[in-house]
Amino acid sequence: MSTNNAHVAVIGGGCAGLSTAAALLDRGIQVTVFEASSQLGGRARTVAVENNNLLHLLDNGQHILLGAYRETLALLSKIGIDENLAFLRVPLQMSMHSISGLSEFSLKPAQYLPVPLNLLAGFLCCNGLSLSERIVAIKLMATLKKDQYIIAIDTPLERFLIDQQQSTKLIEVLWEPLCLAALNTPISIASTRIFLNVLRDSFSNDKKSSDFLLPRLDLSKIIAQPLSHYIHTKGGNIALNSRIRKLEVDANGFSLTTRNNKSFFSHVVIAVAPKNIDKLLQPLPKLQYLLDQVETYGYQPIYTIYLQYPPETILPRIMTGLTRSITQWVFDRGQLCGELGLISVVVSANGSHQQLTQDELALEIAKELDQVFPDLPQPLWYKVIAEKRATFSCVPNLARPTNKTMQSGLYLAGDYTYADYPATIEGAIRSGAKCAELIANS
Ligand SMILES: Cc1cc2nc3c(=O)[nH]c(=O)nc-3n(C[C@H](O)[C@H](O)[C@H](O)COP(=O)(O)OP(=O)(O)OC[C@H]3O[C@@H](n4cnc5c(N)ncnc54)[C@H](O)[C@@H]3O)c2cc1C
Repeated sequence: MSTNNAHVAVIGGGCAGLSTAAALLDRGIQVTVFEASSQLGGRARTVAVENNNLLHLLDNGQHILLGAYRETLALLSKIGIDENLAFLRVPLQMSMHSISGLSEFSLKPAQYLPVPLNLLAGFLCCNGLSLSERIVAIKLMATLKKDQYIIAIDTPLERFLIDQQQSTKLIEVLWEPLCLAALNTPISIASTRIFLNVLRDSFSNDKKSSDFLLPRLDLSKIIAQPLSHYIHTKGGNIALNSRIRKLEVDANGFSLTTRNNKSFFSHVVIAVAPKNIDKLLQPLPKLQYLLDQVETYGYQPIYTIYLQYPPETILPRIMTGLTRSITQWVFDRGQLCGELGLISVVVSANGSHQQLTQDELALEIAKELDQVFPDLPQPLWYKVIAEKRATFSCVPNLARPTNKTMQSGLYLAGDYTYADYPATIEGAIRSGAKCAELIANS
């Protein structure tokens, strides 16, 4: 199928769909993006929340990017985002505290040394681990580097770490928080192979790859809005409130049906989350194999709890990790983005907190914060944003479909199609770039 006079429909306006559209337009290929909801961004978006007749703009989740997200950073730079305005770049560091407020573990790689010596020095000087624990952690990092972060057989990460003599404490204060942050999957079932891919990209190149990039602006201002502007400037179309209800193959390509319209395209990119793919693929018997693959997927939630304290409230650090508590990560958005007194708490993956109502959860979190940060006043208001199926469970040997399908002219984009990575913005954006390349070369 040639791309002369091609008009590509991209179904889904999340990071993957928008990155596909931008990359196709860069190649001079005409695009229309169909997005079911009234806004772009998918799982990385800002939502307006009403409280006491006041509207607050809150991200659907406190996202963190990594210095290793090279495609994302390149795309954002291309569309005119100034990284220094959009993100606070923090060199990798971990500060883990117990619920009683005591420091359990802190790691700060040496800034003056190149990788991996910076990490080695960081482990040697870290707080909270015995000498033997530091040595086994260093040994594991050295072995992984020697083996280029490749393992022969994928296993659950916890099993792998136990086999590598990592102590319970090491797993609890170092590996488990990293696993939850990177894979949003409990360590007992998380894929070692995919976790090591993230470590490889963070630690194999320059030391900036392991930096955390914390958004200083609303997510939509960093991703969806500038990408939408870029797509329009390049002549692309975006149709909001346009859920595709039916996808049919015809002699010259595809027809797509929304509530009000039917339109025709030479190519289609399905860039919806795997949980939404079944309705689009059901009428296409050739693609039953894809349905069989995504049917095996499990999903993990992410809860983000925003608590507004009086504006003068300041936490000792912008980002703090907690262990043995419901709270996993705490961010002081006053210091991060100037939203004075606003604290966001991230609770990743399945856990006992799902049995609580949203009010109970917020009150429980407020209690935990009160224990960790003494003298914290009562929150003025709170809001829980529960993304119940935030990401696919990143388990060992998960079947990940390719971008090209068995149906000529029909492609898939989305975080789940970028097989090297867990569900991330980077995986979504890389999948979009790859899809556009495949279409342009078809
Ligand atoms: C709370 C939360 C926190 C996260 N934290 C991080 C983080 O810190 N770092 C990180 O890298 N990643 C994080 N992620 C993951 C990241 O947001 C996702 O991996 C990424 O945004 C997925 O993009 P996508 O385009 O593949 O899918 P989506 O964002 O799901 O986009 C799919 C789009 O398709 C639309 N759609 C669905 N069906 C149809 C239809 N029939 N017709 C038209 N449109 C349709 C949907 O409305 C949606 O806009 C987080 C996710 C969540 C939910």
